[in-house]
Amino acid sequence: MASDPQPTRSPVPNPVPSFWTASPRSLDDHRSTAELPKACDVVIIGGGFAGVATAYHLFKDNPNPPSIVLLEARKVCSGATGRNGGHVKPDMYYNVSKYSKLYGAEAAAELAAFEASHVYAVKSLVETEGLDCDFQLTRSIDVFLDPKHARETEEAYRELVTGGVVDLHDVAFTPKKDAERISGVKNAQCCFSFTAAHLWPLKMVQQLLERLLVKGLNLQANTPVTSVSSTRDDQGLWTVHTARGTIATRKVVYATNAYTSQLLPEYANRIVPIRGVCSHIVSSKGAHSPHLVNTYGIRFNSRHYDYLIPRADGSIVVGGAGQRFWHMKDQWFDNVRDDELVANAVPYFDDYMQRNFRGWESSDAKAEQVWTGIMGFSSDFMPHLGQVPDKSGQYIIAGFSGHGMPAILLSSKGVATMIREEIPFEKSGLPRVLKTTQERIDAERNLLEESMRPLWDGSFTAKL
Ligand SMILES: Cc1cc2nc3c(=O)[nH]c(=O)nc-3n(C[C@H](O)[C@H](O)[C@H](O)COP(=O)(O)OP(=O)(O)OC[C@H]3O[C@@H](n4cnc5c(N)ncnc54)[C@H](O)[C@@H]3O)c2cc1C
Repeated sequence: MASDPQPTRSPVPNPVPSFWTASPRSLDDHRSTAELPKACDVVIIGGGFAGVATAYHLFKDNPNPPSIVLLEARKVCSGATGRNGGHVKPDMYYNVSKYSKLYGAEAAAELAAFEASHVYAVKSLVETEGLDCDFQLTRSIDVFLDPKHARETEEAYRELVTGGVVDLHDVAFTPKKDAERISGVKNAQCCFSFTAAHLWPLKMVQQLLERLLVKGLNLQANTPVTSVSSTRDDQGLWTVHTARGTIATRKVVYATNAYTSQLLPEYANRIVPIRGVCSHIVSSKGAHSPHLVNTYGIRFNSRHYDYLIPRADGSIVVGGAGQRFWHMKDQWFDNVRDDELVANAVPYFDDYMQRNFRGWESSDAKAEQVWTGIMGFSSDFMPHLGQVPDKSGQYIIAGFSGHGMPAILLSSKGVATMIREEIPFEKSGLPRVLKTTQERIDAERNLLEESMRPLWDGSFTAKL
C-alpha cells in the first residue's frame, strides 16, 4: 500500500527563472532511457546538490557501483540548488553558542568544524573533477548593524573563546571603531570574518552529473515520484511510484529537501517549505563603484539578515529581504510557490548597494533580476541524515534550512557510506546532531516556529 502523499508540498510547475537557470543547459530535461528501468539497486529522489552528491559518492572509487536511478520532478537542479546565492559560508561562531546550549559544547564544536571543512571539500571537488563553476575562495564578513545585537554577539563569541572547545582560529573579530572601514558597510557596529567560498551551483551540479552519466547513472528529469510503497515486496524491494511507471529497488534516498513530507508524511512538521528571495544586481559599464572582494552576511538585528556575493564579473548577488515579508507568514512559510515572486521583496534590492555600502552612493547599481526559491527548513535547524526510522533501506538527506552549501557535500559522503557499507549512522563520521531519529521527529518543541513567532504576533518591533 502506498503512503499518504501531501500534494500541497510537491514542486510546482514553471518556477520563475533565476540568474543561474536563465540560460538552458544540456542536462535540464535529460532522460538516460526513454522508459524507466523496471528495477535498480538505488533510487535517488531529487536532482539538487544533495541527490547528485549522494550519487557521486556512491560511484566514487567504487569498482562495482550499484545501479542507480536519479528521479527529478522538474528540470534537473531547478530546486533550491538552482536558485540560491552560491555562498559556501560555514557557520563558524554565530549560532554555535546557541547550539552549545542545546546540544552541548562538543556537539556544537563538531558541527562548526564539519561546516568549516566544507569550504576546502568543495574546492577539492571542483578541482578534482575539473568543474568550471566560477569557484572563488574568499573571506566572508558578517557585519552587525544593531548595537545591542552586536554587543550580545561579541559577548557570546568571547565566551566561546574562553570555553576553548570550538576551533575559532580562522575567525577574526573587528570592533566598532574599525568595522565600517574594514567592511565597507555603513553604520557597522562590529564584524567578524572567516574563510568561505562562492560558486555557480547549477554549473557545479550539472557538470558533476555529466561525469556520473559516463559511469552509468540513469538520470530521469521531469519525473515526479508520487509515492513509495509502505512495505517491501516478497523479494525485499520497495516500489517507487511515478507518473511514468514504477521502479522496484533495494534502497531509496530522499534528497527531496523542502518537499520531503509529500513522500514521508512523518516529517510534515519537521521539514517545512520556506520561500526565499534572491537577486542579481548590476551597474552599467563604466559606472563608478568600488570593487568588493569579500562575501557578506549583513545582520540588521537578531532576526533579519541578508547575504551578498560579489561576482568576478563585477555584478552582485544579494539574498534575503526578510524584513519586507517575514511578518506575513502566508507569503513564505509552508509555501512551495517558486513560480511567482514575493511582491514586497522585489523593490528592496534596487538601491541596496547605495543604501548599505560606502562609496556606492552615486553608482547606478540596480537589481536586474529577482527570483524565489524553496528552502527546506528543519524545525530544529539541523538537516535530517541517515536511515528513515522504521524504514530499513530508506535514507534521508534533507532539511538543509537555507544553508546547504556548507553542509551537503560531506553529508552526502556520510549517507553514501552508510548505504554502500551498510553501517549505522554512528560509524559514518557525520556530526551526531544531524542523525534523523524518531525522537527528533516526535519532538514537542519547534525551534523554527518559536524563533519566528515574535515576527508573526508583532512582538518583535526592531526599527529597520
Ligand atoms: C533563494 C535561496 C537562496 C539560498 N542561498 C543559499 C546560499 O547562498 N548558501 C547556502 O548555503 N544555501 C543557500 N540556500 C539553500 C540551498 O540552496 C539549499 O540548502 C540546497 O540547495 C539544498 O539542496 P537539496 O539538493 O537538498 O535541495 P534542492 O536543490 O531543492 O533539491 C531537491 C530536489 O528534489 C526534487 N523533488 C522533490 N520532491 C520530488 C519528488 N516527489 N519527485 C521527484 N523529485 C522531487 C525537487 O524538484 C528538487 O529539485 C538558498 C536557497 C534559496 C531558495
